[in-house]
Amino acid sequence: MITLKGKGVYGGIAIGRISFFRRGGVDVRRHTVTDAESEVARFEKAKAQAISELNKLYEKALRDIGESGARIFEIHGMMLEDDDYNDSVINAIRTEKVNAEYAISTTAENFSMVFSSMEDPYMKERAADIRDISNRLVVALAGKKRLEAESSDEARIVCADDLAPSETMQLDRQKVWAFVTAEGSVNSHTAILARTMGIPAVVDVGDELMRAEDGTEVIVDGFSGHVYLSPDQTILSEMRARMEEDRKAKDLLQKYKGMDNVTLDGTRIDIFANIQGLREVGAALLNDAGGIGLFRSEFLYLDRNEFPDEEEQFQVYKTVLQSMGGKKVVIRTLDIGADKQVGYFGLEKEENPAMGMRAIRICLTRPEIFRPQLRALLRASVFGSLAIMFPMITSVKEVMEIRKTVEEVRRELEKKKIPTSPDTEFGIMIETPAAAMISDLLAPLVDFFSIGTNDLTQYTLALDRQNRSVSSFFDPHHEAVLRLIALSAENAHRHGKWIGICGELGSDLALTETFLRMGIDELSVSPAYILRLRDKIRNTDLSDPSAQRKESNT
Ligand code: PEP
Ligand code: MG
Repeated sequence: MITLKGKGVYGGIAIGRISFFRRGGVDVRRHTVTDAESEVARFEKAKAQAISELNKLYEKALRDIGESGARIFEIHGMMLEDDDYNDSVINAIRTEKVNAEYAISTTAENFSMVFSSMEDPYMKERAADIRDISNRLVVALAGKKRLEAESSDEARIVCADDLAPSETMQLDRQKVWAFVTAEGSVNSHTAILARTMGIPAVVDVGDELMRAEDGTEVIVDGFSGHVYLSPDQTILSEMRARMEEDRKAKDLLQKYKGMDNVTLDGTRIDIFANIQGLREVGAALLNDAGGIGLFRSEFLYLDRNEFPDEEEQFQVYKTVLQSMGGKKVVIRTLDIGADKQVGYFGLEKEENPAMGMRAIRICLTRPEIFRPQLRALLRASVFGSLAIMFPMITSVKEVMEIRKTVEEVRRELEKKKIPTSPDTEFGIMIETPAAAMISDLLAPLVDFFSIGTNDLTQYTLALDRQNRSVSSFFDPHHEAVLRLIALSAENAHRHGKWIGICGELGSDLALTETFLRMGIDELSVSPAYILRLRDKIRNTDLSDPSAQRKESNT
């Protein structure tokens, strides 16, 4: 048995077998073949497998995200049938007598270079597609399947060096029981996704993980951050008992469904859910969320090759609003940038992406991206109780500009006789120290604030939330962060506005009482945390003044 120690990002135990997520998958080496025709046959067989994988992916995406999101898999299928591409691979095998893998990778290199050098941004983008389909072929030649196309019904523990948010999104939640990464940080969006998905996850276990074999039995303890490879009987029975305890604890929480979020002394607070897309609405409802406090709409833009158009976005927003049946739904406009990179946005590479062109900065400088999203949101507003929220605000000027754009978009819609709801709320995220410090000036301009504690901690403490080497310094309980939250709450209330917390700190039970005392009106957390938080609130008594928060020693 080998024991690895990392950082647990979502509590829970999983026992299963390792399935590696290897980007790029297979090492390609050149070697000479004697029988070129059987190499061509290998290529044809791999192509048939790749096309069948793509057909399945197309069907799945059509069900999950609709026609325009699924189109990319159709395009990939067509590219695999392209005569020029096929001729190039087959000619290389026959004339140079090389293995199929090598012929594919040189073809991929040549074709992607041609596409990259084209002026047309659409054609430029095809370079990535060529690399992608070629990788699919090489993986198929190695007798493997790409993770997302896995058809086996066996649940797996996905292991990887690291996972980008878009890669995490590809995981089939029905079949992935946990994931473990060699690198990664507990504050990254990948970790947040694990919490939203409610699956045990451990990050930063070190490189030894990558030396394990596919299929190795493994236990993931998301509570302690331990990962046991080829576990012995003692740890297996200990962990099985722990799993049973955890299941019972979760069952016990079910009794809180339908109950109020009210403290022993009668203070009420809303508990809403954080979601990434339609897929989590069910979990929000199942866990009795009072509404959606943060819909990270940028996830609609990830894991694809072109912008979701206005109509596609409208359908998603409308469905979320309708599914929530009149409960409040806070949709945040896209927060692309930093760790959420999307090739087709054409953003320049930056030294410091967390401080660069991200979120509202993209929206305010690229109206062709911002306006369709606003149009989709305003059109959807009549289907429920919508609140639109804007990320990464630092100034009054930005908020004024946003309000002006929203008004223009609303008037355009009115002219076309497209209805919008007059009750839509407009709010901003307080996730920069600047926004918190001028929250007295911002409050009159908006309907609500929502504190993004993940970024607020990053920017207040000057600590990259993605950088695991400084993770021991990352302290969201830091007095500076808590004071900025308290200041924002005070200013929101002074102007009669409500304030919520949608960063990960919202589900930190050690701070629930502190937030209640600050008068926070809403906590928005991953669906799996809702009932635990309700349990904590219902057992808190604010009438005891001796329990007032003392400043921490930071
Ligand atoms: C935050 O920064 O706390 C937040 C909720 O936004 P995100 O984690 O998506 O950056
Ligand atoms: Mg943020």
